[in-house]
Amino acid sequence: MLFTEMGLSEDILMGIRELGFETPTPIQEKVIPILIENRRDIVGLAQTGTGKTAAFGLPLLQNISLRDNYPQMLVLSPTRELCLQITRDLENFSKFKNGIKIVAVYGGASMDKQISALKQGVHIIVATPGRINDLLRRKKADLSRINSLVLDEADEMLKMGFREEVDAILASTPNEKNTLLFSATMSADIANIAKSYMNDPVEVSIGTKNAGADNVSHIYHMVHAKDRYAALKRVADYNPDVYGIVFCRTRQETKEVAASLMKDGYNAEALHGDLTQAQRDYVMQKFRDRNLSLLVATDVAARGLDVNDLTHVINYNLPDDSENYTHRSGRTGRAGKEGTSVSIIHTKEMGKVREIERAIKKKFLPMPVPGGKEICERQLFSLINRMTCAEVNHEQIDPYMGSVYEMLNDLSKEELVKRFVSLEFNRFLNYYKNAVDLTVEARSSKSSNFERFENDGSRNDGSRSRSPRNGSPRNEGDDSSSRRRRNSNVPMTRIIFNVGKGKEISKKDIIELLTSSAGRRDLDIGQIEIFKRASSVEIDRKLAPKIISEMNRRFYKGIKIDAEENLEFKGNDFRDRDKGPRGKRREGGKKRYEDAY
Ligand code: AMP
Repeated sequence: MLFTEMGLSEDILMGIRELGFETPTPIQEKVIPILIENRRDIVGLAQTGTGKTAAFGLPLLQNISLRDNYPQMLVLSPTRELCLQITRDLENFSKFKNGIKIVAVYGGASMDKQISALKQGVHIIVATPGRINDLLRRKKADLSRINSLVLDEADEMLKMGFREEVDAILASTPNEKNTLLFSATMSADIANIAKSYMNDPVEVSIGTKNAGADNVSHIYHMVHAKDRYAALKRVADYNPDVYGIVFCRTRQETKEVAASLMKDGYNAEALHGDLTQAQRDYVMQKFRDRNLSLLVATDVAARGLDVNDLTHVINYNLPDDSENYTHRSGRTGRAGKEGTSVSIIHTKEMGKVREIERAIKKKFLPMPVPGGKEICERQLFSLINRMTCAEVNHEQIDPYMGSVYEMLNDLSKEELVKRFVSLEFNRFLNYYKNAVDLTVEARSSKSSNFERFENDGSRNDGSRSRSPRNGSPRNEGDDSSSRRRRNSNVPMTRIIFNVGKGKEISKKDIIELLTSSAGRRDLDIGQIEIFKRASSVEIDRKLAPKIISEMNRRFYKGIKIDAEENLEFKGNDFRDRDKGPRGKRREGGKKRYEDAY
């Protein structure tokens, strides 16, 4: 379905065209026709990021009569940030509905200005419950003629203790109106509000009730409590383009984690309730503008932060209740993008993980904490990517190039590349040279898949190690992989790749490469054969495509890995073959690995 087929007016269509919206999101497909055709009350169960603001905004904006200079629509939102975001969105949608007046009223800002805006006459009020209630008591706002009311993030409003205000506000509105309620989760309290204030509402739900967003993967790293911070840094280092929120449980923890990250050279800041509103605004703007890669925040402080495109949500500590987890993880994987919610947990927290799994109806994937080698590979890959994508301003740089070439004259191309790469990369190599495996096994054999493996690395002393980002490397011990077992019922396939004895790869290295590429330690691995210039290994057939594609993005000791599935492969395929270019296909489609180096 297209927006143009939904009965929206031309001025609204022009607004969304300018925003680049082409097709409606699922919630828009469901809600817009209901509001345009028969104006029923709606209970919408949808996460933020699903496009719900446009779902209610577009059809309701179209009902606003510009001739009537009084409030016709009220949107209630739990936080100032969400309130401002909704106002901005509605203004954008109605950019071509000339003369429409929308005002945001929220706490923490001058009431006089808001009163004067209201006095001049507005069509739409977007408000936080506390402030609008205040204005109602002072008789500065008139809700007696509104014909639509939206309660956005109603579950958050109730959790923040706004029930009384909501009751008072609703009492100031006419009985005859179109009421919409949006919530990420359905609780008894929400059902109760729907029952008290809504007229035979249609329930519209996107995804399963109380479920996490579909395109979010939920993973956990199990570590000793004292290694939590070291694990956090590894997660950040393993994801060079990370743009995410690190959730902590208390203000104190938020301050400590942010301070340590900043000291260790990460681009991070804290967001918590002890900051003034101006400081909060500053940090949030910096994060929105992507001038920060990690925002360390408490649940309350991060509420209503309207940031899309987060790559990660990192739970430095799991929240006390699973609803908060749903809110946290719903901040990534928005607008159809993939996202990851990473939880750093210790051995006694498996119960909590299971509880959240039941609530979100999704399984967490146990993942080893990224090891030193994998981090270095990812960093190197990212560095090379950045280098190849770097913009070159020929005009400005050309005048210097003569002297630069002269200075570098004695270095071969290979040597030059190595030095450039090392300049940036040595910190990571040194820091992670002897990194220990931070992953620990679950206490109960039933509660984790890690029992198939045993760590054999020496542990570090748990003291805080400094980041590779600002130098001062500190050895963490030996990264290790471990013994493996195989479940004989799993259908297997064979993959081959272009690294062998020549690069001193061991079976242990191969297992580590496979498990990290698969993102799981419970991988079924069969026979491993290592030849001079290649290796072959049997793995779980179902997981082979994912593993091959991940392996092919990696390097091993300077070599870009080239892996493929090949059931017919025999070790003899390598031997006594003529030399030829790397990766060239033989007849029959098999690759030649003889000349991988
Ligand atoms: P919301 O859930 O309302 O906060 O929307 C999440 C994000 O998706 C916002 O940045 C919207 O601008 C964007 N968005 C909403 N609807 C669409 C659409 N149909 N096509 C593209 N982007 C959209």
